[in-house]
Amino acid sequence: MNSIFTTIAAHGMHCFHDLLDLLFPPSCLSCGASLLQSSILFCESCLKKIKFVTEPYCTCCGTLFPSGENHLCGICLVSKWSFTRARSVIVYNETAAKAIFGLKFGGRKAGLKTFKNMKEQSVGCQDLISPDRIIPVPLHMNRLRQRGFNQSLLLARAFFPDQRNKIIKTALRRQRDTIAQTGLTGLSRRKNLRDAFVVEKKDDVSGKKILLIDDVFTTGTTVNECARVLKQAGAERVDVLTLARVAEKF
Ligand SMILES: [Zn+2]
Ligand SMILES: [Zn+2]
Repeated sequence: MNSIFTTIAAHGMHCFHDLLDLLFPPSCLSCGASLLQSSILFCESCLKKIKFVTEPYCTCCGTLFPSGENHLCGICLVSKWSFTRARSVIVYNETAAKAIFGLKFGGRKAGLKTFKNMKEQSVGCQDLISPDRIIPVPLHMNRLRQRGFNQSLLLARAFFPDQRNKIIKTALRRQRDTIAQTGLTGLSRRKNLRDAFVVEKKDDVSGKKILLIDDVFTTGTTVNECARVLKQAGAERVDVLTLARVAEKF
């Protein structure tokens, strides 16, 4: 171990992460293959399968279009969301799903740096509001105890390392331990989430521009329900940023 400490002393703290990689060799977040570097934790083959959300997309909900200009999608033309804009960094495909699963259920927090790097390259995130408050979608206390962390809070901290003072993890509370939304249809999703979230302190959100953070945008029901209660508590505007987005044709 002595030589390790000598190396830290010799090369300074900026080498500390390289050293950690030596002690715990980095591996691909999706397939687990060993990697030589840790700045992007995907192997070459998995990285090719990661698809960034790029234009054209819906100016409101951020759904991707195969071609043409940015415009409102069919859903946004007829329905009113409580959020103003929703954007995501990558498409939720099999490769992304494995990486997110690793974070959520395997606690692979090493992946957060990769997600941050990807967010910095993302086009869509640039037209989100500059927020007064950054609020992660909360987990119910039972699930938080089980998992030990809220992945949306970890993502918020990773995405905005310089704005940690704006991140309010207690602004929203999940008061009902809803069943997982996966597999539910639109109407059942909305019913399942009814009264699921409450604003803890109105002062945290009233008159504020809020950016909601979640891991995956599937149908938008969860973030929309959060946005609805935030607006009800007086939020001026709510935008949404998720790491990944379900996009069936991509
Ligand atoms: Zn891989
Ligand atoms: Zn839309």
